[in-house]
Amino acid sequence: MLKKCGLAAKVLISAAMAFAPPSQKTTHDAIGDLSGLPVLLQRAFAPDAGSFDPIPNPGPNDWLAVHDEPGQTFDEFKASRPNRPAPDRRIIYLQPLGDFVPERSPSIDKLREFAAAFFAMEVKALPPIPIQSSKFATRQNPLTGNPQILTSDVLKFLTTRLPADAFCILAITMEDLYPEPSWNFVFGQASLRDRVAVYSFVRYDPAFYGEPRMAGYEMLLLRRSCKVLAHETGHMFGLAHCTYFNCLMNGSNHLVESDRRPLHLCPVCLRKLQWSIGFDVLERYLELERVNRLTGFTDEADWLSRRIKTVQGE
Ligand SMILES: [Zn+2]
Ligand SMILES: [Zn+2]
Repeated sequence: MLKKCGLAAKVLISAAMAFAPPSQKTTHDAIGDLSGLPVLLQRAFAPDAGSFDPIPNPGPNDWLAVHDEPGQTFDEFKASRPNRPAPDRRIIYLQPLGDFVPERSPSIDKLREFAAAFFAMEVKALPPIPIQSSKFATRQNPLTGNPQILTSDVLKFLTTRLPADAFCILAITMEDLYPEPSWNFVFGQASLRDRVAVYSFVRYDPAFYGEPRMAGYEMLLLRRSCKVLAHETGHMFGLAHCTYFNCLMNGSNHLVESDRRPLHLCPVCLRKLQWSIGFDVLERYLELERVNRLTGFTDEADWLSRRIKTVQGE
């Protein structure tokens, strides 16, 4: 299955499909039966109103106004038989394509550290591959003239490079991407079956749109990049878009909408990821809190501190 996410390139037709935020029963059903789980997990997966905001009603150009998504309950996720890490396939590889120039790119090491805490898995960054020496098809965007790389070439290349111990390999780049000639651009593309994906962060830099880089833009670029990396890697685990809470796994159609999304998972999506990876929820929260605070994502770190107390039953 090829997956293109965040299809801002698509022409949006305002056929306002009626998305109604889910009822309490719907979200409970999506989380699934918690009886029989250890008490700590029951607390972690409870739809605590103080921690998790309901999904907002979509505006006219928001993802759920133009994409009719049914949601994916925890039980449906399990029944979809998603790829899961195994003892011999448990490393997430990051493959940088082209340069990540400091000041105009997120730090690969910070991205790696964030992903390692988020997925509670080992994440390794491979040496960058120069674009010039690659065989990827490129073009000048017919409308804007900026250079772009063909995603299908990158995905094909990655399938030949998948290390034996890889859960997945994710190419990350500051070059712009296109999935096929008829498309204007794409943020990223993945093949879940082949466990390969490519994402570009260049459109998260205000300078891409000719806008000034205001004070603090480096933190904004890093935050957006961590967010897209965690969201898209979530898809690699088989998590579909979330329609239950305000959640990292919500679809988004534009930058304002994705900036609005939190950097954390709702209880439905957290339960899916925990089932897949088998991490200790409390240890993961503690490490994520440390990394978020160190990185300067203070609001997220504060949210995590509160969650840690809740999960501990304080
Ligand atoms: Zn997505
Ligand atoms: Zn969610």
